[in-house]
Amino acid sequence: MKIQVLNDYSEISRAGAEIIAETVKKNPRAVLGLATGATPEGVYDVLAEKYDAGELDFSEVTTVNLDEYSPIEPSDEQSYRYFMEKHLFSRVNIRPENTNVPIGNTADPTAEAKRYEAKLASLGYADLQLLGVGQNGHIGFNEPAAALCAETHLTPLSESTLAANSIYFTDRPMPTEALTMGMASILRAKKILLLASGKSKHAAIARLLAGEISTECPITFLLLHPDCTVICDRAAYEG
Ligand code: PGA
Repeated sequence: MKIQVLNDYSEISRAGAEIIAETVKKNPRAVLGLATGATPEGVYDVLAEKYDAGELDFSEVTTVNLDEYSPIEPSDEQSYRYFMEKHLFSRVNIRPENTNVPIGNTADPTAEAKRYEAKLASLGYADLQLLGVGQNGHIGFNEPAAALCAETHLTPLSESTLAANSIYFTDRPMPTEALTMGMASILRAKKILLLASGKSKHAAIARLLAGEISTECPITFLLLHPDCTVICDRAAYEG
C-alpha cells in the first residue's frame, strides 16, 4: 500500500483527479469505480475542469458506483444517482448508458444487488476504484460487523453512518438501508485509490496503518490489495 500525505483537501482532490485522469488517458475505455459523499466532490470538480480544458474525453468511459440508498428515487436530490449527475456526469461527455449506480427504488433490492454484481462482472470490475472512508472505517456501505458480505448486497446502515449522513436529510428521516458493492466486488478492482480528509477520518486511517485486518474496520481489508494508494491530508493522517 502506498500512502501519500498532503496539506489539505484541495491538494488531495487534485492528486486524486490526476490519477483518474492518467487512467483515462492511458485507457479511454477504462471502467472507473466512483464514490459519493463530501470527499470526492473536489476530485469531480478537477475532472470537470480538465474536461473543459480539452484534456479528457469520457465518451468511451464506463462508470460503476459503489452504492445507493434503499429505498430512494433516482431523482431524489439525496440519491447517489442525483449526486453523480450533478457533480460529474452532467459536466462531462460520458454516455448516460455507460453510467451504473445501483437502482434505489426497486421493489426487489436483493434482485437488484444480483443484477448489479453481474453487471460488474460483465465489465471485468473497475480498472480504478475511487473510495472515501466512513468515520467508522466503512468503505462503500460495508459497515463494521462480525462478518462482511463478498458481493453487492442490501445492508442496514450503522448508527454511526446514520448520524454522519442524516445531516443531508433535513426534511425527513433518511433511508436506513443501502445497496452496496461487497468487499470482494471492491477488491476485484485492478487499482484502488482512497482519499481521506479531516480529523474525523483519523481513527479509520490509523487502524489501516496499524496493519491488522478486521471486519470491525472494513477499510483494513485494503491491506489485501496489491495496488492500493491512500492519499490523505494532514488532519486525517495526524488527527
Ligand atoms: P464523506 O463520506 O466523504 O461524506 O465523508 C465517506 C464515506 O462515508 O464513505
